[in-house]
Amino acid sequence: MKKWKITPGGEPVLILAHNYVRPEVQKEADHVGDSLELAKIAREIRNGTIILAGVGFMAEMAAILSPTSRVIHPEPFSQCAMATRLNPDILEKAREAHQGVPVVTYVNSSAQIKACSDICCTSANAVRVVESLGVPRVLFTPDRNLAGYVARKTGITVIPVPEFGCCPVHHTIMGPEILDRKKRYPDAVVLAHPETTEDVQDLADFVGSTSGMVRFVAGKNFRTVIVGTEPGIIPRMRQVSPKTRFIPASSFSTCPDMKMITLAKIKQAIMNEGPVVTIDPLVASGARRALERMMAVP
Ligand code: SF4
Repeated sequence: MKKWKITPGGEPVLILAHNYVRPEVQKEADHVGDSLELAKIAREIRNGTIILAGVGFMAEMAAILSPTSRVIHPEPFSQCAMATRLNPDILEKAREAHQGVPVVTYVNSSAQIKACSDICCTSANAVRVVESLGVPRVLFTPDRNLAGYVARKTGITVIPVPEFGCCPVHHTIMGPEILDRKKRYPDAVVLAHPETTEDVQDLADFVGSTSGMVRFVAGKNFRTVIVGTEPGIIPRMRQVSPKTRFIPASSFSTCPDMKMITLAKIKQAIMNEGPVVTIDPLVASGARRALERMMAVP
């Protein structure tokens, strides 16, 4: 552990970083992963100090799943643009319109939305989570593209809430741009995140979470891979497939909120021992129920 990972109070600090943060932050982290991997690690930590290098909902999740730990989010303004578009009123109206239909919530959402949901999911386990419910219809928040992906994979009716919820970063990835890159690199393999639109997913050789993408390219030695997600994942891909040329599918798919987490802010947060994430206990307990239910899905 590096020297600056100790707080002035002498506490060791564990840094959990998402695949999309800056490479220099990933390099200093104790663990790098997707939302599900980070949530699983946080859940195992007792009485620790965690720096969550990612957007706000990830820091909230760590605080919910590791209630005895102190979770520090180095930049509270770093928030997921998709998560901020859904509020509990919209979800409540959808529940009223579809009474008895369970609500599945993608973890890219606020703790409040999780607390109003039956179960959570990530892009890595969304299909399994929805299938585990054994119902013909679900409400799905807040990403309509992941909802569509799950519907196509399962044959279940998946109703997106809100109707047009999406990640603005993944929406910059366009089919024509991928086709253009394919013209230049005809042997290229295309990867797409399920937050991309259906036409992009249709062009892909593999659709899955960021960690799924890393596993897909590991050891394969593809000559060229077009990466249809936030390009922060590329250094992790290079580690498992060093000879492959990785090309972002879009020139504009950088998530500005993920890049707000810098090493300087992390150092400052360790010095200040904050800002610490706090969540209303009732909200935290409701969100924990939905998250734990997800974790129990095999
Ligand atoms: S890439 Fe999209 S879903 Fe991920 S944090 Fe950024 S805005 Fe949210």
